Amino acid sequence: MRYLDAAATTPVRREVLEAMWPYLTGEFGNPSSHHGLGDAAARALEGARADVAAALGARPAEIVWTSGGTEADNLAVKGLALARPRDRHVVTTRIEHPAVLEACDHLVRLHGFRVDLLDVDADGVVDLAQAERVIGPGTTLVSVMLANNEIGTVQPVAEVAALARRHGALVHTDAVQAVGSVVVDPQRLGVDALTVSGHKLGAPKGSGALWVRRGLALEPLVHGGGQERGRRSGTENVAAAVGLATALRLAVTTTPDGPRPSGPVAELAAARDAFVREVLAGADGAVLTGHPTERLPGHASFCFPGTSGEVVLLGLEQDHGIVCSSGSACAAGSDEPSEVLLALGVVPEVARTAVRFTAASPADFEGVAGAVVDAVRRVRALAG
Ligand code: PLP
Repeated sequence: MRYLDAAATTPVRREVLEAMWPYLTGEFGNPSSHHGLGDAAARALEGARADVAAALGARPAEIVWTSGGTEADNLAVKGLALARPRDRHVVTTRIEHPAVLEACDHLVRLHGFRVDLLDVDADGVVDLAQAERVIGPGTTLVSVMLANNEIGTVQPVAEVAALARRHGALVHTDAVQAVGSVVVDPQRLGVDALTVSGHKLGAPKGSGALWVRRGLALEPLVHGGGQERGRRSGTENVAAAVGLATALRLAVTTTPDGPRPSGPVAELAAARDAFVREVLAGADGAVLTGHPTERLPGHASFCFPGTSGEVVLLGLEQDHGIVCSSGSACAAGSDEPSEVLLALGVVPEVARTAVRFTAASPADFEGVAGAVVDAVRRVRALAG
């Protein structure tokens, strides 16, 4: 099997599993317990917190463990907005992950907030002029993702953050797809909260964290025993925290200039570019979706007009053993065209022909373009 769906999830890395193992077995203590086993768990948890903080160029006390990206996005959007509502005005983009969009919708329905959705251009880049117009002195929070999962476009988050800060609005960014692929440095971005998820990085599903700038009030979503300084109650998942920390230590190098991806990102981008060129040359009418250069290094997403994305996907798996995605994993299986592609101005018939290839290493792209061209031709031949 050739796995080109790394944006959906990744396998747990051996080093990660080995680091987690003791905390699932012999060192199984509850970090709140006052005995040796509890102390060992608490030490492991705080060591993991320090590692996650280091990978973000941050302080350990700024890390809140969560059950993944979805919870971290919810905690950022609702937790920051409810703790300091100002004029109950949230600004986000049309192409955010549902975890952000639905959390904003919750603020509208239950807490009287108003939400402005920023448009994006044909490459998926957020409209900065519109951001300048809608962000004002009463704006509570601005949430703009660092990189989009469906189209790979990397957003000018630092520019948005600078705009927002002029008006005293808080800024959150969902960096789930960006960590380990591009520079993720909350200080340089000028944001107040940043979401990380473990399973895109070789840690288990259900591991994640929210980085929140020191001193900011955060209304908790989960109430209980007051763990995580009252920001997220519940006995901490020590093994998941250790797994996330290990995966981040492997994916990110800390330098005097801040955190940097450790992997061969330039090589990955070069392999991706060669793959994109071959696919565009071989499959008539194929279009690359998302930004041609400001995009995640392992990310290639296309529309193949005259096909169905789901049928191309099926052909690639059955005939070539290549596994990829017809859009985002959450939208997969539904017949609705992707909201992200519609926001780019892609018409619904073409949006239904989307296929996404996401690789973790340059070798993943080798020999795949020919199979893609073949699969697209076969689907068109059947249709025509
Ligand atoms: N945000 C983005 C951009 C994502 O791609 C994902 C997962 O696909 C999430 C949030 C949700 O993360 P999790 O699966 O850890 O809940």
